[in-house]
Amino acid sequence: MSSDQTSIHWFRQDLRVADNPALLSAARSGRVIPVYIFDDPIPQEFRIGGASRVWLHHSLDSLNHTLNGHLRCFRGNSETILEKLCKEYNVKHVTWNRAYDPWRIEQDTQVKAKLHSIGIKGQSFNGSLLWEPWETLKADGSPYRVFTPFYKNGCLNADVPRPPLSAPQICYHDEKLEPSNLDNLGLLDNQSWEADLISKWRVGEDAASAKLKIFLNEGIKNYKNGRNFPAQQSVSRLSPHLRWGEISVNTVWYATKKQLKESPHLSENANHFLSELGWREFSHSLLYHFPFLPTKNLNQRFEKFPWVKDQVGLKAWKSGRTGIPIVDAGMRQLWNTGYMHNRLRMIVGSFLVKNLRIHWHDGQAWFWDTLFDADLANNSAGWQWIAGCGADAAPYFRIFNPVTQGLKFDPDGSFIRQFVPELGKVPAKYIFDPWNAPQDILATSGVVLGETYPNPIVDLKISREKALESFATLKA
Ligand SMILES: Cc1cc2nc3c(=O)[nH]c(=O)nc-3n(C[C@H](O)[C@H](O)[C@H](O)COP(=O)(O)OP(=O)(O)OC[C@H]3O[C@@H](n4cnc5c(N)ncnc54)[C@H](O)[C@@H]3O)c2cc1C
Repeated sequence: MSSDQTSIHWFRQDLRVADNPALLSAARSGRVIPVYIFDDPIPQEFRIGGASRVWLHHSLDSLNHTLNGHLRCFRGNSETILEKLCKEYNVKHVTWNRAYDPWRIEQDTQVKAKLHSIGIKGQSFNGSLLWEPWETLKADGSPYRVFTPFYKNGCLNADVPRPPLSAPQICYHDEKLEPSNLDNLGLLDNQSWEADLISKWRVGEDAASAKLKIFLNEGIKNYKNGRNFPAQQSVSRLSPHLRWGEISVNTVWYATKKQLKESPHLSENANHFLSELGWREFSHSLLYHFPFLPTKNLNQRFEKFPWVKDQVGLKAWKSGRTGIPIVDAGMRQLWNTGYMHNRLRMIVGSFLVKNLRIHWHDGQAWFWDTLFDADLANNSAGWQWIAGCGADAAPYFRIFNPVTQGLKFDPDGSFIRQFVPELGKVPAKYIFDPWNAPQDILATSGVVLGETYPNPIVDLKISREKALESFATLKA
């Protein structure tokens, strides 16, 4: 391709310039029109959630700054818009990085065919995963359903992932292009909730790189153990940046490997962190090979599970008012920050699907709407795992006890105190189960159960037994 040709780079979940193989290819081919299209005709179940819309808006704004204001944003049907742009600006080459949501795969195939039919080269790249889902199959060609062999044999025995690429020098095609207005995408509703939520984060490529550096200097030192304690700063909190592609997983992988080489004593912690990136690969592989992952149980037996329809319980769970302090702290962390620590995701998830026996779809939908890192593969696989109906899932009969989980992973109750301030003065001994606290302790702590803080909406022991009984019906 000659250097005076124009290519479109179609940004999707790769909102960065560094280590962006599709953008690099476009830049090497000549002039570039960088484009983002907010697709309207998405199937209902895949529509972007509320928190994601806020993140996306700010991430596109940041990307536009990096691109010196050259990002063109559109709303509508991607195929139609790309075709129109190609004709208008005599574009012969369109590049994008692959995404693995089933509707995206279908759309990409259609767009590629359409472009081909009008003489334009549509070229897709791997910009989101360390290994493509078809590179990590078993010897017999089938996909892994269990994490450990997937990671050890499928990933670590495959070719090493691509090392990160540098950011390209971009020569923009500017002629007659209308200035882009991000507000036209209508991503923000201008509610105070949005401003409050995003004010707790720095969004964009620079913020993602800075966060990786901080993690590799600090958090990683105690990652393996510390990652279980929500009040500790031991996890990376890179998930929204990875979700939106503000940083590539290859960059994170290679930076961790470099750190490991320089500081071999970090080996256990660093390797554990790398294996969590492996879980991300596993979820994407599951979604690719089992595209029904977001909607149907991987374990078919669960199709008969007697889920309970409980709108009152669901509302209490969503609003962090179940009366179980560690569950409420997790749910309020989610609502107030757009993020929830992994340990809490497991505790609140188990409480919903086991103690309340509410369908995992309801939990998945709430997370989808409220998480900044809401990701179809990780969210669906996470919920199937916690419900016990997924691949390599936690067995259904392993029911987290939120009181002992709190005692173990928030021993002084500081995480609960941060997000459930009405229990702030309750001594650590009673903060996980205030319903067992003597009246005088509650009184001196300023707590009136049922008034200042809810009574528990279920008895943990009885609800556990009911869950096990329901599970037993599956065997029958
Ligand atoms: C019910 C449930 C729902 C979840 N929904 C999502 C979701 O929508 N989006 C999402 O990114 N993660 C999801 N996870 C996985 C995990 O909780 C988050 O990735 C993690 O808490 C993000 O925090 P971090 O970046 O500090 O993680 P770190 O511990 O620092 O891990 C680094 C990165 O590894 C990946 N990772 C870590 N743990 C997992 C995991 N169990 N599965 C897949 N990838 C993982 C993430 O990309 C993460 O950013 C879910 C887990 C559960 C149990």
